[in-house]
Amino acid sequence: MKPAPFDYVRPPDLAGAVAALAGAAGAGRVLAGGQSLGPMLNLRLARPALLVDLRRVGELRRVEDRGDSVLFGAMTTHAAVEDGAVPDPTNGMMRSVAGDIAYRAVRTRGTIGGSLAHADPAADWVTCLTALGASLHVGGPDGTRTVPMSGFMTGAFATALGEAILTGVAVPRLSARARWGYYKICRKPGEFADAIGAVVVDPARDYRAVVMGAVGGTPVLLDDIARRLPFDGAPAIARQDIAAAGPPMDDVDAQLHAVAVERAIARAYAS
Ligand SMILES: Cc1cc2nc3c(=O)[nH]c(=O)nc-3n(C[C@H](O)[C@H](O)[C@H](O)COP(=O)(O)OP(=O)(O)OC[C@H]3O[C@@H](n4cnc5c(N)ncnc54)[C@H](O)[C@@H]3O)c2cc1C
Repeated sequence: MKPAPFDYVRPPDLAGAVAALAGAAGAGRVLAGGQSLGPMLNLRLARPALLVDLRRVGELRRVEDRGDSVLFGAMTTHAAVEDGAVPDPTNGMMRSVAGDIAYRAVRTRGTIGGSLAHADPAADWVTCLTALGASLHVGGPDGTRTVPMSGFMTGAFATALGEAILTGVAVPRLSARARWGYYKICRKPGEFADAIGAVVVDPARDYRAVVMGAVGGTPVLLDDIARRLPFDGAPAIARQDIAAAGPPMDDVDAQLHAVAVERAIARAYAS
């Protein structure tokens, strides 16, 4: 199928993009890498009256090292993270996660901002950045605001964005003593996940996060499990405890998701 007809603008800056989107009065959509929106347009699952192409907006490609965090412009591609073309404040976690998203062609065009705004429950950045405690910068006609990652996704394919544009993602820097583990279960490399576990432990910030992802809705922070992770020594957490801490699901899914989290914990403590 071909997309339904739409108007198209390619503003040169963020102010122009915000104004164009606001001018469409709810009938506009922004275009980032087009890796999810393109198929949705072709299948007519999305029928915007106006497409606001962000690819010329330089502000959204900027990556700023702020010392205790790095601010990634929303148009930072998965490939830029995978290739180390931008700083990685997470001791390799983001680079590793980026390299396992889809296939290289998708990673070359797909963006962190597009992935977060699309809010597919099985996507990687929503789970990884929840574990990292990232915060999102959002710009709209009413100005700018910051939203914690944990409050950004409100359900499957639903976010707190409204009519605003996601401008950037601030990721806290992990200390040299931090541990991380990420485990994605999928049928073959390059596929969306059936289950994801993500773990971040950083003694320097007294920070522990365990996330169960790809659960069909928002990623779930397993705080009771996180509290049991030691800063030193090996954790001893039974798989049944992990399954019990997750959301209700059938036995097979519960087992799959508990295994993903269990393996993420094991990876975090492997060295
Ligand atoms: C074959 C295939 C396999 C894939 N496998 C995986 C995978 O394993 N893991 C994974 O995580 N992802 C996967 N993806 C998705 C991929 O990561 C896309 O990059 C991502 O879903 C969308 O990013 P995009 O930049 O292409 O956004 P687009 O497709 O351009 O936009 C997606 C949505 O977000 C909105 N949007 C985009 N940018 C912004 C912004 N800055 N502010 C507000 N709204 C915005 C758009 O309006 C649209 O609604 C896969 C995609 C394909 C095609």
